[in-house]
Amino acid sequence: MDNCLFCKIIAGDIPSKKIYEDDDLLAFHDISPQAPVHFLVIPKKHFANVMETKPEDSALLGKLLHKAQELLAEQGCAEKGGRFVINCKSDGMQTVEHVHLHVLGGRTLGWPPG
Ligand code: 5GP
Ligand code: ZN
Repeated sequence: MDNCLFCKIIAGDIPSKKIYEDDDLLAFHDISPQAPVHFLVIPKKHFANVMETKPEDSALLGKLLHKAQELLAEQGCAEKGGRFVINCKSDGMQTVEHVHLHVLGGRTLGWPPG
């Protein structure tokens, strides 16, 4: 998708610190980490937000979630876990309009969100 920051990261036009990549997914460190572990897992297929995904995308989204938990474990957070977050549109404070799962760990995270 033209003018999408994360599509440009997928294309390699903007550099990122990659953690994992396959034909469907890319995982990379967040540029502004909010926890000792904070990375993003994105589908290579462009969706502006999670509400644009469809039932036929279920396999892709399931694969994304399971890769995310595998990577969180690899980052040393298997025992204590962490948080999986998808912000959506304005009330969710989404700032990049390409679906991304935030994966955070390495410290106790507050709840509820502010
Ligand atoms: P959102 O607010 O849309 O849920 O999250 C967007 C996330 O993307 C933010 O946590 C932000 O720090 C991250 N981000 C924005 N621009 C870049 C970038 O160029 N590279 C990387 N690695 N992360 C970015
Ligand atoms: Zn995109």
